[in-house]
Amino acid sequence: IWAWLCPSPSLLLGADVDAPETHSTELLQTRRAHFAAAQKNYYVNPPQIERGWREHLFDVHGRCYLDMVNNVSILGHGHPRLAAAAGRQWSLLNTNSRFHYSAVAEFSERLAALAPPGLDTVFLVNSGSEAVDLAIRLAWAHSGRRNILSLLEAYHGWTVASDAVSTSIADNPGALESRPDWVRPILSPNTYRGRFRGRNASEGYIAAAVEELARIDESGAGLAGFIAESPFGNAGGIPLPPGYLEAIYAMVRERGGLCIADEVQVGYGRLGHHFWGFEEQNVVPDIITIAKGMGNGQPLGAVITRREIADSLENEGYFFSSSGGSPVSCVVGMEVLDVMRDENLQANARDVGDHLKSRLMGLMDDFPIVGAIHGLGLYLGLEFVRDRESLEPATLETAAICNRLLDLGVIMQPTGDHLNVLKIKPPLCLSRESADYFVDMIQKVLSEGW
Ligand code: PLP
Repeated sequence: IWAWLCPSPSLLLGADVDAPETHSTELLQTRRAHFAAAQKNYYVNPPQIERGWREHLFDVHGRCYLDMVNNVSILGHGHPRLAAAAGRQWSLLNTNSRFHYSAVAEFSERLAALAPPGLDTVFLVNSGSEAVDLAIRLAWAHSGRRNILSLLEAYHGWTVASDAVSTSIADNPGALESRPDWVRPILSPNTYRGRFRGRNASEGYIAAAVEELARIDESGAGLAGFIAESPFGNAGGIPLPPGYLEAIYAMVRERGGLCIADEVQVGYGRLGHHFWGFEEQNVVPDIITIAKGMGNGQPLGAVITRREIADSLENEGYFFSSSGGSPVSCVVGMEVLDVMRDENLQANARDVGDHLKSRLMGLMDDFPIVGAIHGLGLYLGLEFVRDRESLEPATLETAAICNRLLDLGVIMQPTGDHLNVLKIKPPLCLSRESADYFVDMIQKVLSEGW
């Protein structure tokens, strides 16, 4: 009904509304007066967004943008069912999750049902960073050990522990020096521009992990766990080499550690072909972290694990989050799952994602700057290089392409260690028409001379 009532605003996309300045200077000044330099907005002059509808955003001048980078709003913007569900629950009650309240128990049950058998215990929090911090605390508590193995170039959050396992060099140049000693980074299995490529990449990366594991054993504090995303999100969705997680999970478990799958960014249906990222690697983690899309923008995150792992936290003290898993968050979370089912959004991510990827692959024939298209479903990465042999990253060009796309009504953002990858992660309701518009605009920009 929703889709039927509203004419597609993509008709307006890129329309040159009589508004040369898409931002408000006054608002920018206010923002700068009260925000720190680290609180970045990618664009120097960002459009002042006022409202959204499906995969579209509208600024204060009524100009329409295609939102290709927002993997928080998985259902799309302005969904009337979410507004109704949240409003209803607000008018009844919102309080902390300690109370015996039906939505909290029902939502936990539904999340457990989405996870592999045995992972039936759920902690509700407010964000992905909190979920990752809690997963690390669980690994420490359950194993009685300390070291956490993580992948270089990965991003897992901004809180103290999640930031420590995020050694994304582009995001945080000081990360390697300031990392606490319990973080044990291993080579990220980036099969596009990493040390090992091609058919034998798995063996090379597994051997690198074995070396680090040997050092951990000598250090005495033992191995508490291993955290990774699959596919490799920060690099734009590059799949991990076949058999990689299976081998690392086995080694980690042999040493008494737990395996954490960070599904905050790539999981929850976005990959289209599977609900969870780890499915692609045929592994079952001990702990899953989720957030972002599960609340469609409502602060909501979760950790799903096995009972005995969850219970080990009791020895450490206590878990309590004042508003994590509040009734409003849980009702919104359940409505997100209902809408995903009713609107077949995972299947849409698969079908539109496959179409989008094959159209993007077509650009490689005409534009040498397009080095590769990574990813699956609606988690894709468009990597720009100066030279396909040396893979020299086209960092400045990527920034310029992004800014030009904004002129044409497409919101994007560079990512990766070299900021040369456009990470494509639109709402899962992205239409084929919008996907085509996006590729047409990329084509137009690249034809202008890159
Ligand atoms: N883990 C991954 C893989 C992420 O991409 C992010 C956020 O970008 C986080 C954790 C942290 O989530 P949040 O920003 O909700 O704290």
